[in-house]
Amino acid sequence: MAKQIHGIIWLLVGIVVTVIALWVGKLLLFVILGVACIAFGGYKVLVQYMTKPKESKTDKFHEQMREEQRIKYCSRCGAPGHIKSNFCNRCGSKV
Ligand SMILES: [Zn+2]
Repeated sequence: MAKQIHGIIWLLVGIVVTVIALWVGKLLLFVILGVACIAFGGYKVLVQYMTKPKESKTDKFHEQMREEQRIKYCSRCGAPGHIKSNFCNRCGSKV
């Protein structure tokens, strides 16, 4: 979220710098700087937009997978228990 805002700030700063430079005139360096800022900010926003939903989806999926892998079932009574626990919660037998 913070990175996305950062990209938008770059974009806005670039636009402001470019507009001022063009308005004042004879500030080619600032125009280039502004365009560079727009390009950088736009790229950042685009990358964030392209990658973020994908990332969060896979993260959620992996989290779910990990969560499922943590659960094991008792061989004696079939009660689900945490993977780290050595004894069954229901019957107390060693898992
Ligand atoms: Zn059990």
